[in-house]
Amino acid sequence: MAETPNLRWFEAYSTCRMCSKRADGILRGLQNESYGPHCKKHAEQRLKASQKVREGAA
Ligand SMILES: [Zn+2]
Repeated sequence: MAETPNLRWFEAYSTCRMCSKRADGILRGLQNESYGPHCKKHAEQRLKASQKVREGAA
């Protein structure tokens, strides 16, 4: 297979802010603001923790 002459650089996927695993997505807030890339495990962990804060349990 002939390679294209157009390649220049590699844009790697982001890694999770809480660990060094590859992120599965971006955690977003009330106004769709970004809280950065997270893996699924840590996104769910922070979503639950945030809900606890809203409920006044933390
Ligand atoms: Zn993580």
